[in-house]
Amino acid sequence: MNKDYLISTNETDCPICNKVHSLEIRKRLTQAVIKEEIVDYEEVYYLCPLSDEEENEFVPAGIMDENLLRARDAYRIKKGLLTSYDIAEIRNFYGLTQSDLAALLGWGEVTVTRYESKTIQDETYDNIMRMVYENPMFALECIDRHKDRFTIEKYNKIRKNIANKVEELGSLYLKKQEIRSLYVNFEEQSEFNGYKTLDIEKLANVIGYFSQFVENLYKVKLMKLLWYADVIFYGRHGNSITGLVYKHMPLGALPIAYDEIIHLPTVKIVEEIIYEDISYRICPNKEVNISEFSLEELSVLETVATTFKNYRSKEIVDYMHKEKAYRDTVPNQIIPYSLAKQLNELK
Ligand SMILES: [Zn+2]
Repeated sequence: MNKDYLISTNETDCPICNKVHSLEIRKRLTQAVIKEEIVDYEEVYYLCPLSDEEENEFVPAGIMDENLLRARDAYRIKKGLLTSYDIAEIRNFYGLTQSDLAALLGWGEVTVTRYESKTIQDETYDNIMRMVYENPMFALECIDRHKDRFTIEKYNKIRKNIANKVEELGSLYLKKQEIRSLYVNFEEQSEFNGYKTLDIEKLANVIGYFSQFVENLYKVKLMKLLWYADVIFYGRHGNSITGLVYKHMPLGALPIAYDEIIHLPTVKIVEEIIYEDISYRICPNKEVNISEFSLEELSVLETVATTFKNYRSKEIVDYMHKEKAYRDTVPNQIIPYSLAKQLNELK
């Protein structure tokens, strides 16, 4: 709590000793009371190194505002609210000014400006801004409802920006909603999801990882790779990677929403006809950002990918059938992660 750091110096008029000299600009972790809550935040202040007085530091006005903003943002993070940066990001996502976003939502002209500078939004307003960001269709409905708040040129320009996002991300949003709706009963951490709630972004990245490093990857095999990645990580660290919930099915462990997850727009699948059956081949997706994985996650993903690389779907299914977690569960039963602590040979 008492650590503080020199971040730069500034030659200026010093109000402590009333001379022009070089002042130290320092930063420290401190506490503030915001809405009756104590929060930790980073405070920047000036220190006069020439003074022997006890009062040898001060905060210039502009920096005071920034400190307050950081304290309020610390409160927002603590309460799970959008920070001032998050709100600015939502605006930039659609190319909106502060008053544009306020108009789009039918709010007073300076509402968003205040949220980005001094006022903490209440939860209802927070949810609405979040929804605008997550669901471009909602943003589109909002601008159409408040068309009269814009000049026609501005309306056309903003509507076009939003429509582009609908095209780009609308189906992703819907697919995510579909998956989330199948996981409504697994929103608590438990041994069914490996003490982690479903992380769809992470899941899409894991699928992307396997599609890059495992050739001839088909749906059945992918589902087993996901299970092994989750249970091995669980064995090592006490929680799953993706938060998927798996059921005992004839072809081994199968995650709930298996059909929806391979149709995430970030997953590339190609339909192939093999012996008159349609198969889904999972293809390399170059957009996967490997650097988003932790080293522990990468270690597990690599183990799984290299172990099963050359297994055909049938071989990995047979392999999985021998697992204790499979033998000790009955058809359609959810396979608890705790049963997967012991695995055939892998660790
Ligand atoms: Zn001084």
